[in-house]
Order: sequence, then structure tokens, then C-alpha cells
Amino acid sequence: MNKIRMKTPLVEMDGDEMTRILWKWIKEKLILPFVDLKTEYFDLGLPEREKTKDRVTLDAANCAKELGVSVKCATITPNKQRVEEYNLSEMWKSPNGTIRAVLDGTVFRAPILLDSIRPIVRSWKKPITIARHAYGDVYRATEYRVKGAGKAELVFTGENGESFRETVFDFGKCGGVLQAQYNRDDSIRSFAHSCFRYALDTKQDLWFSTKDTISKQYDQTFKLIFAELFETEYKKQFEDAGITYFYTLIDDAVARVIRSEGGFIWACKNYDGDVMSDMVSTAFGSLAMMTSVLVSPDGKFEYEAAHGTVTRHYYRYLKGEETSTNPMATIYAWSGALRKRGELDGLSDLVAFADALEAACMDTLNAGIMTKDLVLLVTPGTEATAVNSERFLDEIASRLSARLAGAAS
Ligand code: NAP
Ligand code: MG
Repeated sequence: MNKIRMKTPLVEMDGDEMTRILWKWIKEKLILPFVDLKTEYFDLGLPEREKTKDRVTLDAANCAKELGVSVKCATITPNKQRVEEYNLSEMWKSPNGTIRAVLDGTVFRAPILLDSIRPIVRSWKKPITIARHAYGDVYRATEYRVKGAGKAELVFTGENGESFRETVFDFGKCGGVLQAQYNRDDSIRSFAHSCFRYALDTKQDLWFSTKDTISKQYDQTFKLIFAELFETEYKKQFEDAGITYFYTLIDDAVARVIRSEGGFIWACKNYDGDVMSDMVSTAFGSLAMMTSVLVSPDGKFEYEAAHGTVTRHYYRYLKGEETSTNPMATIYAWSGALRKRGELDGLSDLVAFADALEAACMDTLNAGIMTKDLVLLVTPGTEATAVNSERFLDEIASRLSARLAGAAS
């Protein structure tokens, strides 16, 4: 069989621990036998980040910006314990943070659905994609613990001499807590562009929610920026694509989401997105089945799994024990990136390969062959056999071969 040709290389970012092992197997078993793979390879594994003083992460991010489509393996975000474990000279920053800062993107997370795993919410039939505005608000707030009597004020001093001062609260003797949050127009604008673009890209309705009735300046600004961009730049494109933009209050959104069938993108402010993405992924079944894509306002895409490096499984693997780590979200990162590359380069074979790869995964799962985590989740009565990661990938590979041979004949 002739291998499928590529034009522009993908940016490939390797990672750490169990997902690094899966990464190698996925390439060996599911990609390299079928695709004449072209990538710009960056090793974001922690040892290499240490060796290059984290230069490699910045190089990868810049390359991702230049080439437009990348695929990333999960990586360790160092903490104190990791600094000791890897003998690090510095507590290197989260690679995802660095990449996001360079691409200025928004993260969209969506579950992979399976007939035999019913979401906890019975009405959900299609994936719900959550977009989180990962900038500002409470994550960059200035806080103060008020211990004694005193008055809190909000003060703004403009460069042009304009100023604002208002009493927040007069604490009397009671003590309490105080917090100041901010966000930036350009960041909200980028977030909105990424959301509108991704909705068009995936042909799904876009929902956005805030609490603008209570927060009459702060949340209202989010609402107005979205509304303005929609009116001036996206309305016509949405109509042509047959999709809608829908704004509602966060509490109304929560109620509607629970009653919905799914199949839309829900854009959330930073805190709402943090909380709701965990709620939605748990209700859909499993973190191991959550995909994630970073989309920049100018249309660059970085695909990855939502889960981490699965450290507990890796330590077992190092002891020579068999592991049944679920590679689905990482495989979908590859299929997502290859499909997008195919679309951008006009390579229909590559797009068809990505579709076949995902279909082969579904064939395997529907045959009841799955990793251990999923066997525990399937509806009672479904026939399901737990296999180890390698066996699972081999089963997908043979179904993928069959599909591609069928398509070629
Ligand atoms: P994690 O790697 O997502 O794993 C947490 C637990 O979830 C695992 O122990 C496992 O449960 C289950 N799990 C997650 N993915 C699975 C999969 N593919 N197959 C089967 N089970 C899966 O989170 P963590 O242990 O908190 O973090 C580990 C490292 O990952 C940390 O160093 C963190 O910095 C990093 N991290 C990276 C990213 C990223 O690069 N995007 C994201 C999050 C975390 P059981 O052990 O019960 O089987
Ligand atoms: Mg969270």
C-alpha cells in the first residue's frame, strides 16, 4: 500500500511519563505504517526542558505559530516534588502556559462519545465542547485579608488625568476579605474570535454566558464585546453555516445545558470554565476520553489530550507491570491534527485517513475491546474485555488496515 503523502509538516511536541510511552506506540502502530509522516519534532519531555533551560518549549511554540497545526503529548508541570525527582535547576513553567501565551489561544475541550457509555445526564446525546477564557479574573486577582476596622476603596488613576474612586465597603470593626479583579479588552476580544472561529470550523452553535445582570460593568463588557464582534464580523458567516450564536445568563445556561442534547460549544469565563469543564467531563464519563484543542484568534490549532501524563501508570510500567492506560484522547489529538493539516493543505487522503483512524478506534471499542478504565464505565450487560494498552493499539491497527484496504479496493 502506498503511504499517504503530506505537504506541510505538523509540529510534534513529545512529552513525559506514560503518555510519552503511548506516544511512541501510537506513532509506530497507527501512523507510520500508513502515513509518510512529516513533522517538526520538539522534545518537551522534562529532561530536555531542563537541558535547554526550557528554550525548547519556546521554540516549539514559535514553530506552532509559524506552521499553524501542532500535536502535543502531555507534559509534567514541575512542582517542588518534581524539582527533586528530576533534579531541576529551576521550577520550569507549565509548557501549556508558554504555548498559550505565544499563540494567544483558547482551549476547547470535548468528550469522545461511545454508545456503550451513557452520560450521567440522560438527555445528552452529542458532545458538549467547553471553551474556557484562561486569562485574568480571579486567577490574577489582588486579594487582602482585612483584619481590623477600615475602609476599602477602588481607585483607578488614568494616564490622561482621569481618575475613579469609589468606596467598596466600610468594614467598621468586623474584618473580612477583599478582592480586585481585572481583565483586558484585547484578551476578551481574542477569546471571542477563537470561539466564533471554532464554531464555524466545527459547524456547531456557540453559547456564551456571564452574570451581566449583577456585574453591570465587568461581565457586561464581556457580553458587549462578543455581541459587537458577532454583529460586525461573524453574523453572515454563521447564517451561511446554519449555526447560531446564543447569549444567556450563566445560571440559565447551566439549566439549559443540563436539559439539552449537547452538540454545541459553551464559551465560559475563566472560573466558570474551570468548574464547568470538570463537571461536564465527569458527567460524560472519563477524563481519559476528553480531547483538547488550543485555537488562536488567527486560526492556529494545537491538539492534545485533556489528561496529564498518568504518573501512577508510568511507575507501574517502570516496574515491568502491564498497564491498561487509555490512549484514545492522544490518538484523537493525532487524528485532529492530521485532519486539520489535510484540510489546510487540500489533501483529501490525509483527511480520509484521520476519519478512518477514528472509525477504527470506534470499531474496536464497539467490539467490546477496551482499556480497563472504560470497562468499569460501560452500561451493565455490554460485553467488554479489558486489554493492555499495546494490545488495544494492535486491535485498532488491524481494523485501520482493513478499513484503508477496503477504501483502496
Ligand atoms: P492525570 O495524568 O490526568 O492522571 C490522573 C488519574 O486519572 C490517573 O492516575 C488515572 O487514574 C486517570 N487517568 C488519566 N488519564 C488516563 C488515561 N489516559 N487512561 C487511564 N486512566 C487515566 O493527572 P495527574 O496524575 O494529576 O497528573 C500527572 C502529571 O500530568 C502531572 O505532572 C501534571 O503536571 C501533568 N499534567 C499535564 C497536563 C498536560 O500536559 N496537558 C494536564 C494535566 C496534568 P487511576 O490511577 O485511578 O487509573
Ligand atoms: Mg478545574
